[in-house]
Amino acid sequence: DQYPETQGKCPVTVVVRVRPVDSDEAHGGFQQLSTTHVSILSAHEHLREHEFDHVCGPKSSQQDIFEVAGRPFMDHCLQGFNVSLFAYGQTSAGKTHTMTGNLSDPGQFGLAPRLLEHLFLQISEAEGREGPDKLKFTVKASYLELYKEVITDLLGPADGASLQLREDLCNGVYVEGLTEQEILNAGDAMAVVEQGSARRRTNETRMNQESSRSHAVLTVYIESWSRADSDVECIRSSRLNLIDLAGSERNTASGATGERLREACSINQSLTTLGRVISELVEAQQAAQAGGAPRHIPYRDSRLTFLLQDSLGGNSKTLIVACVSPAEAHAAETASTLEFAQRAKRI
Ligand code: ADP
Ligand code: MG
Repeated sequence: DQYPETQGKCPVTVVVRVRPVDSDEAHGGFQQLSTTHVSILSAHEHLREHEFDHVCGPKSSQQDIFEVAGRPFMDHCLQGFNVSLFAYGQTSAGKTHTMTGNLSDPGQFGLAPRLLEHLFLQISEAEGREGPDKLKFTVKASYLELYKEVITDLLGPADGASLQLREDLCNGVYVEGLTEQEILNAGDAMAVVEQGSARRRTNETRMNQESSRSHAVLTVYIESWSRADSDVECIRSSRLNLIDLAGSERNTASGATGERLREACSINQSLTTLGRVISELVEAQQAAQAGGAPRHIPYRDSRLTFLLQDSLGGNSKTLIVACVSPAEAHAAETASTLEFAQRAKRI
């Protein structure tokens, strides 16, 4: 195996991030037992214990999350793995805070700006080396929003048409016409994150606060080249996907009908498919190690998983940050988020 450190390990890492309670909320149902264990009262009042790779409590800072869920994954990406980081959880559980954070306060930067800053530090180190270890990098980024299975380019013109997913032998799965912005330094990277987030907020207003129902996917394409003499040779190419998922809350109880119900169904369908794809991938890896037959992975059951097909499975690493609230009022949703995260991992 080319990457012996991954052998026998689960290809999916799950980190739980607990947000602080708001001043008017009561704590209840949820308990952090250690840095890896939590317990929650389930919908039927059973106390369930779950184990994850790591639990970041309500006092954890944006830097703490970066150390657990950011830095190691950018390092995997620079070693040639495709990496996908998902933020999963109900609306207002802290997904956007974790992925993007407050872009006007460096102390509150989320994973995206921190990862990109780390990337360009690593690049300037590798480009500054002497001799055969010297590398040259090309970095590009795209940023899209997926709402009710419609794809919008967050870096394209504001009135741009929706885009189509395509697949061919040469490119694999790709979004036709999606802007791929070249990024030369951390400043350019920050501009892309800012532009995409600002556009997402504009769309939110237009969609009547319903952007909590959309997925946002920021993809960073990294290519590194060795410069042995005049022969330029591509040695590595990998992708980092940062996915701020739609709110996972179930809408069946809220009396949604017609369009709203259809929308809720399509969102739940894409999150359910994501969960199935991830747990099938874990099983497929275990089966492959035991010499079993290849398994069918249902990538095509949603646009989100189809879009990410080339970055999930195979030579890749997946991280789920399960964002939860410890508030009593959210205990049922918190239980359902923890169950999703646990199923994805199947420890
Ligand atoms: P989501 O994207 O999951 O709907 P947000 O990230 O927008 O949720 O969080 C909702 C609100 O709670 C925001 O105002 C955000 O700044 C705040 N918030 C979320 N998580 C944290 C946290 N860990 N620490 C401080 N504030 C948080
Ligand atoms: Mg959000």
